[in-house]
Amino acid sequence: MGLSGLEIYKLLPKTNCKKCGFPTCLAFAMQLAAKKVSLDKCPDVTEEAKKALESAAQPPIKLITIGKGEDALEIGNETVLFRHEEKFYHPAGIGFLLEDTSSEQDLRKALEEIKKLDFERVGQRIKVNLVALSCKNNDASKFESALKIILEGSNLPIALVSDEPSIIGKALEVSKDKIPLIYRATKANFKEMAKLSKSFKVPLVASAPTLEELESLVKNLNAEGVQDIVLDTGEKNIAEKLWDLTQIRRLALKKAFRPFGYPVIAFTKSEDPLQEAAEALTYVAKYAGIVVLKNRNPWNVLPILTVRQNLYTDPQKPLQVESKIYEIGKVSDKSPVLVTTNFSLTYYTVESEVESGKIPSYIVSCDSEGMSVLTAWAAEKFTAETIAKTLEKVGVKDKVSHKEIIIPGYVAVLSGKLEEESGWKVTVGPREASGIPSFLKKLGK
Ligand code: SF4
Repeated sequence: MGLSGLEIYKLLPKTNCKKCGFPTCLAFAMQLAAKKVSLDKCPDVTEEAKKALESAAQPPIKLITIGKGEDALEIGNETVLFRHEEKFYHPAGIGFLLEDTSSEQDLRKALEEIKKLDFERVGQRIKVNLVALSCKNNDASKFESALKIILEGSNLPIALVSDEPSIIGKALEVSKDKIPLIYRATKANFKEMAKLSKSFKVPLVASAPTLEELESLVKNLNAEGVQDIVLDTGEKNIAEKLWDLTQIRRLALKKAFRPFGYPVIAFTKSEDPLQEAAEALTYVAKYAGIVVLKNRNPWNVLPILTVRQNLYTDPQKPLQVESKIYEIGKVSDKSPVLVTTNFSLTYYTVESEVESGKIPSYIVSCDSEGMSVLTAWAAEKFTAETIAKTLEKVGVKDKVSHKEIIIPGYVAVLSGKLEEESGWKVTVGPREASGIPSFLKKLGK
């Protein structure tokens, strides 16, 4: 069991200096005991206290890194069950299962398809994270050849999938610099797999069909000196897998149950792309660290990446764009000026509609603290005064020779006051962004 808040408090400097962001050392100690903050937030804690607080300082779910460099995949280190309690930190890695029995041509084609699963949404890049290579016929040389093709054709982190330690060992010789994930240690092979994990310093998947067996396997791996572990409960249907994932997360966070204090990998079972997407979405939401898919269709993968992106944003800090004037297309001093809020989803929706309308325009994004148009208006963050101030601040008058702005149809009520405040003619645009292209065409600018 971890230390109580009071026990932790006794080891802190007790100066109430607030550098950790909490009003007192006791408040910080309580949060540390609940594993909602990390010890490094207190800059004055002594080395001696650090040692004593080691277990309290450990995250409830260990951070595991697969690969290295800018494509490295970090999973785990989560602190809450529900996103609204704080936020989720490390987005589930999305991987793809390839087989060493595929021809060289098919493997290269698959890698090209995976490379293309890299999108931009609301100003952020969303992409897939992992290639898992499965050894299908226990042939080490075939596995190695397929692995070399993957190493040449992809920068993504890799997972080596085989129950045979000698095959994994040979594969590690050629891929150790990429810090691959080894899949998997079982009751039968854990000693040899533990040796490989330690000597090559790579994370290892502990795999068992029941939670009881998984607990015992993890304890055995810990006893062998393996700490970088990813959990797996094998192939199951969606309901069973969801139950496992939920129990593991609950036990790790609510009971500080160390054997389950690691991220979890889940493989989808269904061959049907839609069913597979439903499985993957479920696991991304609750609570997989990695989800490995079979299908690589962009229309199958993009919704999964979109849901992941939405889940892993900070619910207290909506995605925002900078409040400024944006130029869309080859603008001139005659181009129309549209006004909207700085909520990313709102801004990028307006931007893409302006682009598709092919009429170069300016978009002024007003600081609404990341709220959408109607919410910001209701919260008085998108008012005649704030819009007028923004027009002034971004210098729109220096960009155009006319004096007309277009506001969203939902806030038509602001027109009169905004004209008074800003001195600009206000035209009410469409309510929905989808109406922008035809609106701009009719406007004839
Ligand atoms: S930074 Fe450390 S010493 Fe200062 S209030 Fe926080 S816990 Fe106490």
